[in-house]
Amino acid sequence: MVQTLRPLPPPRAWLPPPRPDGRVPVDLLALLPEEMEAYLGSLGEPRYRARQIIAWLHSRAVTDLRQITVLPQSVRERLAQDSFVPVPEILRRQADPVDGTVKYLLRLTDRETVETVLMRYRFGYSLCVSSQVGCRMGCRFCASTIGGLRRNLGASEMVAQLQVAQRDLRQGLRADPPFDRVSRIVVMGMGEPLENLDAVLRFVSLAHLPEGCSIGWRHLTVSTSGLVPAIDRLAQEKMPITLAVSLHAPNDEVRDRLMPINRRYPLDALIPACRRYQEATRRRLTFEYVLIAGVNDLPEHARELADLLRGMSCHVNLIPLNPVAERALLPSSRRATAEFAALLSRMGVPATVRRQLGTSIDAACGQLRHRTLASGVVSDSLQERPIGGISSGGLLDTIQRG
Ligand code: SAH
Repeated sequence: MVQTLRPLPPPRAWLPPPRPDGRVPVDLLALLPEEMEAYLGSLGEPRYRARQIIAWLHSRAVTDLRQITVLPQSVRERLAQDSFVPVPEILRRQADPVDGTVKYLLRLTDRETVETVLMRYRFGYSLCVSSQVGCRMGCRFCASTIGGLRRNLGASEMVAQLQVAQRDLRQGLRADPPFDRVSRIVVMGMGEPLENLDAVLRFVSLAHLPEGCSIGWRHLTVSTSGLVPAIDRLAQEKMPITLAVSLHAPNDEVRDRLMPINRRYPLDALIPACRRYQEATRRRLTFEYVLIAGVNDLPEHARELADLLRGMSCHVNLIPLNPVAERALLPSSRRATAEFAALLSRMGVPATVRRQLGTSIDAACGQLRHRTLASGVVSDSLQERPIGGISSGGLLDTIQRG
């Protein structure tokens, strides 16, 4: 039962590394406008500078504070001395030649690695951001979880992922709006965002800032494997983002097999939490459902799912499984997928099949990182070698064609 399980210890947090004099630097990329104003006030600078700095950091994606030329030289120097900006190194940048999806493998300042994926849709670009290094949810079909959880990401490390994509887009496609910027974010990369809720909420608030990336609340999605207490907490936040719940099964028997978290928060805890969230926020929920051949894709599963979700304002996103070599699970056939979607729709549950992007570049959660770590290619020596991918120009050509 839910209550008898010991709570997990909180994941290790990220802090900017202390400087030689022992002082903790200012985590500038993570500061909200009021905090930035307070910090500038402490330097005797006017408040309006806060918005300027936010625009340069978040929209223009500047990482070298000395390049913020709108600021007086003395302020730039002071910022550079006082603060720490976590600039990840791009270890790999892989573009799918067919659909233009770009997958980044990034090395963080403590040498941990995470993935970020940029996807091109008709409306513009959507960025899939990681919230943790690794994951401890243990989902049977997911590569992110294979090496376990290393630590939480800081909000500024999530902003840094956005900066990487934003910089590529600004440099390459400026003449092609809306394809010159990231216009949606899904926190669906590596990790369980609701285990790192404070940092994730800070990150989405920053991405929403009009002087920053200006991403509308509805275009900000956070995905969870179903952490009930955190769903309840999120419901109390006045932040009309989209919540996506990874359901993947219509009953506890199947869900227990696929997602160990279900033993902690089974469906009779999770579904009421989703209903409470819906009532509190009046927002339509998204349920993600990865279709796995013979495991959760039978017509009776579709019927059970429709019963489970009846009366809830929701949408089911059916995701073809991206097979992971270590897992003996196969994607559903096209036919089974289409039939599953049609059955749900017929029973009054809106469902769509997610377009599969980036299959040729290991775009499913954690695949590129896992494969790279397993092959031992990520080592110090990689720094001296050219990145095993595409030059920036080539990458952006590929996106434009996609
Ligand atoms: N931990 C969060 C967010 C990260 S995963 C969550 O579970 O929601 C984002 C989505 O990708 C989840 O729905 C996850 O179940 C799904 N996913 C993971 N591995 C996959 C794979 N191999 N193929 C297809 N979808 C996958």
